[in-house]
Amino acid sequence: MKILGIEIILDKCTGCGLCVKVCPFAAVKILNKKAEIEANCTLCGSCLEVCKFDAIVIERPKLSDKNLSEYKNVWIFVEIRENELKKVSLELASKAREIADTLGEKVGAVILGEKAKHLCDEIAAYGVDIAYIVENKNLSEYNTSNYTGILTGLILKYKPNIVLFPATHLGRDLAPRVAASLEVGLTADCTGLSIKDGLLLQTRPAFGGNIMADIISPNVRPQMATTRPNVMKIQKPDHSRKAEIISIPIELDPKALKIIIKEVVKTTKAGVKSLDEADIIISGGRGMGSAENFKILEDLAKTINGVVGASRAAVDAGWRPRTNQVGQSGKTVSPKIYIACGISGKIQHQVGMKSSDTIIAINTDREAPIFDIADCGIIGDLNEIIPALNEELKKNLCKN
Ligand SMILES: Cc1cc2nc3c(=O)[nH]c(=O)nc-3n(C[C@H](O)[C@H](O)[C@H](O)COP(=O)(O)OP(=O)(O)OC[C@H]3O[C@@H](n4cnc5c(N)ncnc54)[C@H](O)[C@@H]3O)c2cc1C
Repeated sequence: MKILGIEIILDKCTGCGLCVKVCPFAAVKILNKKAEIEANCTLCGSCLEVCKFDAIVIERPKLSDKNLSEYKNVWIFVEIRENELKKVSLELASKAREIADTLGEKVGAVILGEKAKHLCDEIAAYGVDIAYIVENKNLSEYNTSNYTGILTGLILKYKPNIVLFPATHLGRDLAPRVAASLEVGLTADCTGLSIKDGLLLQTRPAFGGNIMADIISPNVRPQMATTRPNVMKIQKPDHSRKAEIISIPIELDPKALKIIIKEVVKTTKAGVKSLDEADIIISGGRGMGSAENFKILEDLAKTINGVVGASRAAVDAGWRPRTNQVGQSGKTVSPKIYIACGISGKIQHQVGMKSSDTIIAINTDREAPIFDIADCGIIGDLNEIIPALNEELKKNLCKN
């Protein structure tokens, strides 16, 4: 039997029912010991993935120039953490609004979670027109296979022109899986997004950050990209805006989950901001000389309520964890103050921190490239300057 591009090979189907359990859209039933597909199937592929007997075949319609135009609107995947929007979601909404205005299209936001409706007004203020809400208690924590199946299904059903994801750990896991399910391309870690000749121009560093590449996807839809946190500017919110809410009913059988989250371990201490959301970052590089010497940065961070970061050289030396790394292959940050200590400022480091409001650099080498982008440069030995700076700040902060 064949419906909508999905076929059950009856000779192979054993009626085991695994496909019924995993289908988030409740579109598979068992009839006479064989799987049967209902008309509400989105072709998301969740069933295909679990079928042990190769009894399911999906053939999605191929795109042609004619049906490319069926794809409309700019979507964002909204990342939430502990029932709150992550800052990067506001950055994506702001960018999507700008792109949608250029195209004359709408902005759609997909929000998955145990509870998600309460976030609609806030995300609407940043330019979202339609919120697609998927609520289920099994979505309280990110789960790769569930999220992929649901998002793939929604994209196939609603046909957005563009889908943007955050280049966070979650987004970097989810976006390529959705792109692979849909058999479309994905441009990861974009630092710029704009519209040229009606297409999404996806700009990202290439060849070790030495050139910027502009990438387009003229023959597939949706056009998909991820952007790093702290790269796109958040626009001023308009709290009078309201979004149309589309609630998507789904069913998830916890017994059919391929991935079970047993525990969520937080790597940042309670009350300490993560690197990509911190207002003050004090980063150390190879010039720190040792892991132990990072203690002087931690002391300074305590005084001024900052967070310690690192260059890749310091991370590669094993002095700091990988999660501390700022730069092209680490995190992109945009704090109010960035203090670079013993960091030369190679381009791969700069791309991760140059949008900071104020950059202060401490380096013994007056020719170090970090001074080209620093607002304030101190030429000298960090082992003398940082403890002295800390003492002065302590005195002054205590006075106030
Ligand atoms: C594909 C690719 C991706 C990369 N991604 C990243 C990335 O994400 N992040 C990143 O940081 N790098 C990245 N790099 C590496 C990058 O090119 C540099 O090698 C690295 O940033 C250098 O780190 P550094 O500035 O700490 O070390 P160095 O370049 O060795 O600089 C050390 C600096 O410390 C100064 N110094 C020494 N002693 C003192 C002292 N006592 N007081 C004050 N100053 C002192 C020196 O004058 C020097 O300027 C990447 C490279 C590639 C090819």
